[in-house]
Amino acid sequence: MGTVLGIDIGGTSIKAGLFTESGTLVSTKKIPTGKIVNEDAFAAVIGGLEELLCSNGASPFDVVAAGLDVPGPVDDNGRVGMMPNAELDVEGLKAAMAEAFPNMKLAFANDVNAAAVGEMWKGAARDVSSFALIALGTGVGAGVVVSGKLVSGAFGAGGEFGHITVNREEASACGCGRHGCLEQYASASGVVRTYRAECLERGIDAVRLQGPTDSLTVFDAYRAGDEAAQAAISLMCDSLGFALAQVSAVIDPPLYLVGGGMGEGFDLFADELRTAFHAYCLPTCAGARILPAELGNEAAMYGGAFLAMEALGVYGV
Ligand SMILES: [Zn+2]
Repeated sequence: MGTVLGIDIGGTSIKAGLFTESGTLVSTKKIPTGKIVNEDAFAAVIGGLEELLCSNGASPFDVVAAGLDVPGPVDDNGRVGMMPNAELDVEGLKAAMAEAFPNMKLAFANDVNAAAVGEMWKGAARDVSSFALIALGTGVGAGVVVSGKLVSGAFGAGGEFGHITVNREEASACGCGRHGCLEQYASASGVVRTYRAECLERGIDAVRLQGPTDSLTVFDAYRAGDEAAQAAISLMCDSLGFALAQVSAVIDPPLYLVGGGMGEGFDLFADELRTAFHAYCLPTCAGARILPAELGNEAAMYGGAFLAMEALGVYGV
């Protein structure tokens, strides 16, 4: 029986899952990494994967497919585009894996797209064929599935909700170089930035934050009745609700899932987000549900495994 690997490459570690060829998760392993750009780093990744195999009675020759989730654009044909940072040499890792696992087919996916596929396979989108997963984290990413098919796009930019323009008057620039993107208001750094600006405007002291992306502390401040935090979260909900209403006018999905690190605060902002969505969407789209994602930080690992099985012809999306 062949073995399938779902491999999610994060900022400081890899989350790998070992699955049977029929899609049952057997075991997971977290492999700490630095930049994955040289032979030593490739060897450390392969070594970690071999340990995962070995501790479950499998050998490198048993690996029939692996799905690799990368933090950058991957187009509909699985071609990896330019990485926004130079922390991962995809071609180098691909070559090292092909050598270590000679019977393996390798599939690539953008990490948020993979998370969406994971939610479709084993998570909160099991009962629908079209939906979008919005990952609220350091940035805002999304994965879009229409009629059971992942929409990666011709240029790998399918699901770049974070760069939907929600404010054409914005003076400061987004990371993409444009102005007024959703990410500037609905990402963790966006919420913190708005919160600090609101504190300044009110002449009140901000609560102590752990850094420029510590939105969860802003959520705590909101719970404690902090007005500036409330304003920041209102702007986040208004911006996100507005963006989702535009998405509904294009693909009209029955379901939106909210995940990512800030998804942990979903209960706190869910009502306000739904209200904003309803205020901006076409009346005919108002039935779309907005729910929390279910698989947390394992979603992309599941999605990677699913896409690997798809490459084998076991599943079709
Ligand atoms: Zn942008």
